[in-house]
Amino acid sequence: MERNRFNKKKFIMFIFLCSIGFNGIIISLSSESSLFILAEHNSIQVSQTDEKQSIIILIGDGMGYGPIEFGRLIEYGLDGNTSILEFPYQTSISTLNIFGQITDSAEAATAIATGQKTGGARISTSMDNENLTTILEIAEDNGYNTGIVATCKITHATPAAFMAHTDSRHNYDDIAADISRHTVDTILAGGRVDLVSYIPTMETSGYSYVTNRTDLNEVSTLPVLGLFAGTDLSKVVIREENSTQPSLLEMAKKSLELLSSSDRPYFLMIEGSQIDWACHNNDGIYLAHEIIEFEKTVAFVKSIAENDPSILVIVTADHETGGFDVQYQFLSTELPLESDDFETKKQKRSARSQEISYYFQSTQHTAREVILTGMGPNSERIANATHLIDTFDIMNSTIFPYTPPVDTNTTDDTDNGTSEPDIKGKIPGYSKEIVVYCLSLTSLIYVLWIKTKLKA
Ligand SMILES: [Zn+2]
Repeated sequence: MERNRFNKKKFIMFIFLCSIGFNGIIISLSSESSLFILAEHNSIQVSQTDEKQSIIILIGDGMGYGPIEFGRLIEYGLDGNTSILEFPYQTSISTLNIFGQITDSAEAATAIATGQKTGGARISTSMDNENLTTILEIAEDNGYNTGIVATCKITHATPAAFMAHTDSRHNYDDIAADISRHTVDTILAGGRVDLVSYIPTMETSGYSYVTNRTDLNEVSTLPVLGLFAGTDLSKVVIREENSTQPSLLEMAKKSLELLSSSDRPYFLMIEGSQIDWACHNNDGIYLAHEIIEFEKTVAFVKSIAENDPSILVIVTADHETGGFDVQYQFLSTELPLESDDFETKKQKRSARSQEISYYFQSTQHTAREVILTGMGPNSERIANATHLIDTFDIMNSTIFPYTPPVDTNTTDDTDNGTSEPDIKGKIPGYSKEIVVYCLSLTSLIYVLWIKTKLKA
């Protein structure tokens, strides 16, 4: 009799465990995604779906509204339109850092790349030095091809914040080491000096390494490491037609050609790095050529996205520099034309930039809000964005199509960066609590049913 009861208990336990397993399988199979993995800390939830969408983010470093208007007047005239202002969704966002202060490029790029505010010129680390997962890393982990294009050195703050984690933007060697550890598929920028000791290892791991425009054109496979200057690329204003360095537009085109040649979706960050430096220098002609190069790159990306609704395009700036604005214009030089040769275009742009009266209020970054605009999947969320960190949520929700909309009311301005990062990406269709509840309830019903059977 005793033995029989013991066996009954064992049998009930066996059925209980089986039922949990059975339920787990049924729920996994019936979910909209065939696989989900929950990482415990700094959580990334990886979901497989057929609806993967590509992301292109263009950042004009230091680009306030003034330079956008300056570029419009020079390149297209009073009646012309600039691509940057022609996207379906547009808003203005704050760029302030975790302390509510004027940001630097490292803190701002961290906000864009990780959705978290920081301070102290940190590169994708919190104030207590925790690594903050970047959108590029999330994209990599989800099978995306990735790319970074910039006209500064690759270790500079903005590109660095997507690929590296360190407590200061000036830790160039730490940044270079982190970059070399990633598998970013197209790295096109300056920065040979900082990366020099890592280049051989990267070549061994499969990178085509190129240092000039001609060799870049020849590249037809991923991954590619293109470092076209020891440090930063030349200013557009002094760039010659036969320059050995590719332009921002050429790097963006090559990057997109390579990234889109695979079946995988891609993430690409393109930075117009020197708009900021032109504004720090209060140099109108320098600024004119940098903003127009950025505008031309935006126009190209926009034309690609108009033919491919699976691409999210985001255009923003990390902060405003120089308090720049235009005042009056006395434009008499003809508009630059597509048919003009390289030198004529350049001369017309320089001349027109001097026919516009403008002013700089400072040589530093300002607290002015910047543009956030774009098109494609989830771009309607731009309308609710209030800070740089919201661009992360928009991009992240494009990798995880089921993430709920950005709730700007819950943006916590008092977050001191010590709290755990928000869980990014949600399990499609149901929460963890509901799964546990369903499992327990069904298991209980099974056990009661078996018990009744055994009694009978
Ligand atoms: Zn700056």
